[in-house]
Amino acid sequence: MRGSTDVVVVGGGVIGLSVARELRLAGVERVTVLERESSVGQGSSARANGGFRAQFTTRPNIEFSRYSIAELERLEAATGLLSMHQVGYLLLTGTEEGERALHAACELQRSLGVATEWLGPQEASERVPFVRSDGLHAGTFHARDGFLDPHGVVAALHWEARGLGVEVVTGAEVRAVRRQAGGVFEVEHARGSTRAGWVVNAAGADAQAIGHMLGLDLPVTPYRRNLAYARDPSGSTELIPMCVDLDTGVLVRRDTSGGYVIAYSDPSDPPSRETSVDPAFLEAVASRIGHRFPHLADVPIDPAHCWAGLYPETPDHHAIVGEAAEAPGFVQCVGFGGHGVMHAPAAGKAVAELVTLGRCESFDLHPLRPSRFVEGDLVLETAVL
Ligand SMILES: Cc1cc2nc3c(=O)[nH]c(=O)nc-3n(C[C@H](O)[C@H](O)[C@H](O)COP(=O)(O)OP(=O)(O)OC[C@H]3O[C@@H](n4cnc5c(N)ncnc54)[C@H](O)[C@@H]3O)c2cc1C
Repeated sequence: MRGSTDVVVVGGGVIGLSVARELRLAGVERVTVLERESSVGQGSSARANGGFRAQFTTRPNIEFSRYSIAELERLEAATGLLSMHQVGYLLLTGTEEGERALHAACELQRSLGVATEWLGPQEASERVPFVRSDGLHAGTFHARDGFLDPHGVVAALHWEARGLGVEVVTGAEVRAVRRQAGGVFEVEHARGSTRAGWVVNAAGADAQAIGHMLGLDLPVTPYRRNLAYARDPSGSTELIPMCVDLDTGVLVRRDTSGGYVIAYSDPSDPPSRETSVDPAFLEAVASRIGHRFPHLADVPIDPAHCWAGLYPETPDHHAIVGEAAEAPGFVQCVGFGGHGVMHAPAAGKAVAELVTLGRCESFDLHPLRPSRFVEGDLVLETAVL
């Protein structure tokens, strides 16, 4: 296969598919997604918990969430594929320091138009009866947060992108990208080669390897993240908010089929490309879960229904979105950590504006620019779950 296109998007996960779809909506005629695997959405996107929330601690993440939640609502209404449950996220803390940080985040969210509610200890524990109220200081709740089916997001974006005329080529591992005279890129892949005016890096946990093809060193590092499933002896399928114990980092939601999905991202985990469940994760959950969710302390975890995947992380827990000065025409849309599914709509919109307008009008991308790491000018997201 030899061909030419206007934009090549490397990677057919949620980010690449969203970028491709938005490029077509913005009027780019020929958009080609090159995906290594035999179908789209087999990378991190297939392993996500499906949570979406506006409750972040920095402006860029809150603005990406605000836009994306509205767009996910639209996508669900248009396709019915997302299994979207807006049950809210309930964030809980039992420390003074935690309360101060939660309050500052709540104020910032509210100043940016997010209707986050501030809850005293009693109101917070009343939201979900099984939460241990002893020592609880405060909580926050945002009703439009919730969870969805990440496979549904992939399916909906793929469906819309294809419907708009995006070409999606699977089994097309990108092996080299070269810039030729006149600024045109030659992208060599397993199915041939494609010439393009623009290349977008949306390769998730492999973003660094794609960056290296054009001499960019992107600090995107994969970390294994795990999810546990515990059966619920009560058999209840009544949904609850995504409950986050900020003091331990453990989060719990009830699955639609009953039972609980439990997450914990150990900040001391080393980088890894391993995607089998880490036995140390199960121990870490067991030692922490009783702190705020005591009724789950004795519920056995079902190892056959636990899973793991990779967070494509950056040092400041913000994505990298933008064109690097040293590689014009090569746009990065990478490093979404644990929030790529929920931020895919905003990411797509931002890249489409960069390519078609030469600037992003919907978001301030300055805090997400690729050069911030060498400049040492980082804004840290602390609500990393
Ligand atoms: C356990 C877990 C829980 C999570 N929970 C959530 C959550 O609740 N909410 C949320 O929003 N996010 C969550 N995430 C994070 C989310 O899954 C990621 O941020 C998101 O999927 C990243 O999307 P992506 O498209 O960048 O990456 P991917 O989905 O990994 O897509 C990248 C694609 O690029 C392809 N590729 C790589 N190299 C090449 C190449 N050389 N040539 C061609 N193609 C290539 C890959 O095959 C892959 O399909 C979770 C992740 C994990 C692991």
